[in-house]
Amino acid sequence: MMDYKSFWLEHVGNYEHYSSLQDDQKTDVCIIGAGYTGLSTAIHLKEKNPSLDVTILEAGVVGIGASGRNGGFSMRLFGITMDITRFRHGKQKTKEADMYMVDAVDYLETLIKRYEIDCDYVRDGMMTVATNAQQLNHLEKEMELIDDIGLKGFKWIDQKDTRELVNSPTYLAARYDEHCALLHPAKLVRGLAKVAERLGVKIYENTTVIDVKTRTKIVVTSGGTVRSEKILFATNAYSSFYPKLKKKQIPIYTYISLTEPLSDKQLQALNWEKRVGVEDFRNFLHYYRLTPDNRLMFGGGEAFYYYGSPLDRDKNKEMDARLQQTVAEIFPQLDGIQFTHHWGGPISASLDFIPTIGKISNDIWYSIGCMGHGVSLTNYNGLTLAELMLEEESKRTNFFIVNRRIFSIPPEPFRYIIVSGIRAALRYEDKRGLRK
Ligand SMILES: Cc1cc2nc3c(=O)[nH]c(=O)nc-3n(C[C@H](O)[C@H](O)[C@H](O)COP(=O)(O)OP(=O)(O)OC[C@H]3O[C@@H](n4cnc5c(N)ncnc54)[C@H](O)[C@@H]3O)c2cc1C
Repeated sequence: MMDYKSFWLEHVGNYEHYSSLQDDQKTDVCIIGAGYTGLSTAIHLKEKNPSLDVTILEAGVVGIGASGRNGGFSMRLFGITMDITRFRHGKQKTKEADMYMVDAVDYLETLIKRYEIDCDYVRDGMMTVATNAQQLNHLEKEMELIDDIGLKGFKWIDQKDTRELVNSPTYLAARYDEHCALLHPAKLVRGLAKVAERLGVKIYENTTVIDVKTRTKIVVTSGGTVRSEKILFATNAYSSFYPKLKKKQIPIYTYISLTEPLSDKQLQALNWEKRVGVEDFRNFLHYYRLTPDNRLMFGGGEAFYYYGSPLDRDKNKEMDARLQQTVAEIFPQLDGIQFTHHWGGPISASLDFIPTIGKISNDIWYSIGCMGHGVSLTNYNGLTLAELMLEEESKRTNFFIVNRRIFSIPPEPFRYIIVSGIRAALRYEDKRGLRK
C-alpha cells in the first residue's frame, strides 16, 4: 500500500502545491506552520488589515501535521476532563473555558460558511457513552458538575435512546452534546489555505524553519531568510525544534484505524443514521465516527510518549491490532469487517493538559497544548492570535490561557519518567475498570 499520512490526506482531491522559499524576504507577519492555527491566524490578520503582508512557512505540505490527520470532531472538550480542569483552575475558569470552546465550535461553523469551504461539515452532535457501571457512575457525576457550573447544551440519554442513535451492546447510557460537528479535516485545512491565498497570504511549502533570531526577528529556513515585524510559532506538537518551546509541551501520539465502507446491512445493524460522533468515558478514551463514505473511523484507547520526543512515529502496529480488537468488542455486528488504513500523529500536550497562547519575546508568539481537541480550538485561537498580534482587546484576549504560566518540562530522562508516571496512573484507572 502506498505510504500515506492519513486517509483524509489521501482522499482530499486535487491540490496544487505551493513553491518553497528560495531567497531572502521581508514581511510584516511570519507564521511558522500551515495547520489550522497558522492558517486561521493568517486569515484573520488579513480580514482585519488587508494591507498587512503575511507569510506562512511550512516544513512539509499544508495540513501534513495534526490538521490533516485528526478525527474531524469539531468539539467542545477543553483540557483532559472537566473535573480535572475544575480541580486545577476552579469553577469560574472551567465555565469560562467551556464558553470559549462553545464559541469555538460555533465560530468554526461560521468561518466554514463564510468562505464556503467544502469539508463535509455535518453538525449532529456527539455522544459520550458509558460502557460499564463505574463509567456510568462517573458520567452521572460529571452531569451533576455540568448542572452545578451551569453549562448548557448537554442532555442525558438512557440506554434505549443511546442504542437507537448508535447500536452497541456495550452502551449503558450516554451524555449527548449538541456542540459537536464532524468534518473532513484535510479538506478543511486545504480549504483554509485557499482562503488565505485568496486574501493575499504568501504560503511556502517544503520550507523548514531552522532558527528564529529573536533580537533581529529573522527567521532562518532551509531556503532563505525572512525578516519580519511579528512572528508566530504555529508548530503545535512539532515545536521542540525551538529550544524555548521544547520545555513547554511534549508530543503525545494518538492512533486511528479505519475500516472499508460499511454495507447498508451493516449500517442498519448499527442504527447509525445521524452523523453523531462517539466517545467513551475512559481516561484514554476511544473516539469514533463514520466517514462521508460510511467507513468506521476508530481512534484512541491509549496515548503514547516515546523517549526523546521523536516526531515520526506515525504508525503503531500494536495499536492497530488493539483498535481492531476493540471494534470487534464494541460492534460484534461488524464481524469480518476489513481494515484498510491505520495512521496517527503527535498532539501537543502541556503537563497540566491545558492549552497556552504566549509570547517568547516582544512580537514573537506561540500557541501550543491543544491536545486532541484542537479542531475548533485552534481555528478560534487564530482569531485570538490575530487580535493579540494587532494589539486589540476582546473577551478572547482576556481568556486565561493567554500568557498563563506553565510548568516547565525537564529534559530526558526526567521527562520520560514524569510522562510515564502520569500515563501509568491514567492507565491504571482505566484498567481497574473505573473508567473502562
Ligand atoms: C490522530 C489525531 C486525531 C485527532 N483528532 C482530533 C479530533 O477529532 N478533534 C479535535 O478537536 N482534535 C483532534 N486532534 C488534534 C488536532 O488535530 C490538533 O489540535 C490541531 O490540528 C492542531 O493544529 P495546529 O495548526 O496547531 O498544528 P498542526 O496541524 O500540527 O500544524 C503544525 C504545522 O507546523 C509545521 N512545522 C513544524 N515544524 C516546522 C518548522 N520547523 N518549519 C516550518 N513548519 C513547521 C508542521 O509541518 C505542521 O504542518 C487530533 C490529532 C491527531 C494527531
